[in-house]
Amino acid sequence: MNNRVHQGHFARKRFGQNFLHDDYIIESIVAAIQPKADQALVEIGPGLAALTVPVSKYVDHLTVIEIDRDLASRLIENPFLHNKLTVIEQDALTFDFNLLAEQLDKPLRVFGNLPYNISTPLMFHLFEHANIITDMHFMLQKEVVTRLVAAPNSKDYGRLSVMAQYYCQIIPVLEVPPTSFKPAPKVDSAVVRLVPYKEKPYLVNDIKTLSRVTTEAFNQRRKTIRNSLSNMFTVEQLVELNIDPNLRAENLTVQQYCQLANAWK
Ligand code: SAM
Repeated sequence: MNNRVHQGHFARKRFGQNFLHDDYIIESIVAAIQPKADQALVEIGPGLAALTVPVSKYVDHLTVIEIDRDLASRLIENPFLHNKLTVIEQDALTFDFNLLAEQLDKPLRVFGNLPYNISTPLMFHLFEHANIITDMHFMLQKEVVTRLVAAPNSKDYGRLSVMAQYYCQIIPVLEVPPTSFKPAPKVDSAVVRLVPYKEKPYLVNDIKTLSRVTTEAFNQRRKTIRNSLSNMFTVEQLVELNIDPNLRAENLTVQQYCQLANAWK
């Protein structure tokens, strides 16, 4: 049942509301985050506070971003939380994380059981702020975690793998079954830790070009790159870069995508 009432709240499908109710999983996530008193923790989608309450026990202050007005009001009124919590009622996709880091004068530690419908665009939004983020812990669809960590030459390796691995070191933490949520989602979930590199292994001059190369390559992933990247590179240019034009998108490493991005004029 998708809309069952939970703690008097009617779960809203359009906001991807699947509330955690499994104490073992909740404790494991908090243990993985290891919140410390003076750190700037930021939760995306706190919902009914399943993670917010246990994390708040470790920190002096916590910022939460919640789109659902009813849930935001509940959080503001929560007697266990109100003196520690800053509740921002907003779409996390439009939130300025840079400004928050400036205001708190600290790098951010971001976490959340993310609404699955926005998890990928939200991660891309956060990657743009990677320089002011210490780490991120997210509950995602298991399939998304598999794609985040995928290595070249596998069917799961795609644009998300390249872009995420460009910015972050990625560590799967925990698998979570549908029964840990109310209402139960149809798919398995997993928690992942993303740690933005302080010094990236490979640097691109322009991130938009890396984004474009990966989009063009993976949009036609069955084709060889001599065809899929023909709008951007000639066969001679690929050969000059020591990249075999007969490879397919999934055969190229993150380093090779960075090389291509830097070679494009
Ligand atoms: N953290 C809670 C838990 O673990 O039980 C709730 C998780 S639920 C999967 C996702 C939460 O994100 C909901 O509270 C939902 O209202 C909120 N949400 C959905 N879209 C959002 C958005 N664009 N910005 C901020 N919060 C959002």
